[in-house]
Amino acid sequence: MNTTAEKSPAGFDAQKIRRDFPILQQLVHDQPLVYLDSAATTQKPQVVIDAVADYYRRDNANVHRAAHLLADRATTAFEQARHTVAAFINSPKAEQVIWTRGTTESINLVASSYGRLILRPGDTVLVSALEHHSNIVPWQMIAAECGADVVPIPVNAAGDLDLVAYQNLLSDRVKIVAVNHVSNALGTVNPVKKIIELAHAAGAKVLIDGAQAIAHFSVDVQDLDCDFYAFSGHKAFGPTGIGVLWGREELLEEMPPYQGGGEMIEVVSFSGTTFNQLPYKFEAGTPHISGAIGMATALNYLQDLDRKAALIHESHLLQTCIERGAQSGLQRIGAPQHAAGVYSFILPGAHPADVGTLLDQQGVAVRTGHHCAQPLMTHLRLPGTVRVSLSIYNTQQDLERFFAALEKVKTFLL
Ligand code: PMP
Repeated sequence: MNTTAEKSPAGFDAQKIRRDFPILQQLVHDQPLVYLDSAATTQKPQVVIDAVADYYRRDNANVHRAAHLLADRATTAFEQARHTVAAFINSPKAEQVIWTRGTTESINLVASSYGRLILRPGDTVLVSALEHHSNIVPWQMIAAECGADVVPIPVNAAGDLDLVAYQNLLSDRVKIVAVNHVSNALGTVNPVKKIIELAHAAGAKVLIDGAQAIAHFSVDVQDLDCDFYAFSGHKAFGPTGIGVLWGREELLEEMPPYQGGGEMIEVVSFSGTTFNQLPYKFEAGTPHISGAIGMATALNYLQDLDRKAALIHESHLLQTCIERGAQSGLQRIGAPQHAAGVYSFILPGAHPADVGTLLDQQGVAVRTGHHCAQPLMTHLRLPGTVRVSLSIYNTQQDLERFFAALEKVKTFLL
């Protein structure tokens, strides 16, 4: 276990943060856990675990409906959570925050509702070649239905988007541009402000997949000037099964509902049904109440940290990976101009899956494979990579353990 005091040059105390995360205090395969898979899902601080447990212990009731005290408390906490998210991303109104199951559902909602509303035969949806499958497949599905095309913005060998090619792809047939803020496979931080500005100049709307951004740096939807922003609770220290779609109010107003059912209606009759106002129009059925409360608690936890220092801390860890990785004979995949939280590599001569298994046996958790970005892997001509992904609770000692474990992997595999 990491016991020695460690402060990063920015004064960020990762050891103190670690103590907030009970799961990190365990042995796996008889070794102290080194968790380097936060891009897949982050671990949860005790305050989040407590908030979810307290909700079930004290307040559990269905929201918005019953006339009793528990329902009042549940509804207040649930709606307060929406306000917390709104403040966190600087949304003008809480009604623009729609609860979903996560980034995937948020993107499906926009593709299905907004895509179906505006896409016509011959139109184009631009996605980037860096996208997670969840920001490709929903567009392909709706494009096939509407006779539109999904066209990738190319990526260069460093893992940066080719902005010249992007500008050349923009035309009045492009109706939607959908790109991630940060790539889960390579860690590329995309110049989304520029991407949005260019798309708007061409008359297209922009969805930003923020799944990998929100835990690393502050996001301001008004400053970005995006049209939609999607993210998941579980990648920002909150529970699984909860996420957010933020949308521009006038677009959300004109969009038809995504799913039908309870909560999303105003009046139901067999001669016609009218729909509820925002945000409920998009929230059919009983929502993930404890998830929303847990997510808001996680965002408050994050907000209480010195986020600039946290980012510097993570950048130092990434720099250590890059430098030590090169010394250890690892081939880094991608070298984007700006990267956040991800070091993707291959060990020449070894299959990524074998590297992952042998690291796991030494207590080091990484992810291997195509990272749900098969088009990118095809472009890079790789079956997959080993991905180290970093978070606020990782330390230089974690990386010492990782590189020591890697030396043992080499003796087995090379
Ligand atoms: N986009 C990116 C960039 C991701 O990293 C992920 C999760 N790996 C997703 C979308 C999908 O997120 P979720 O599974 O939480 O819906």
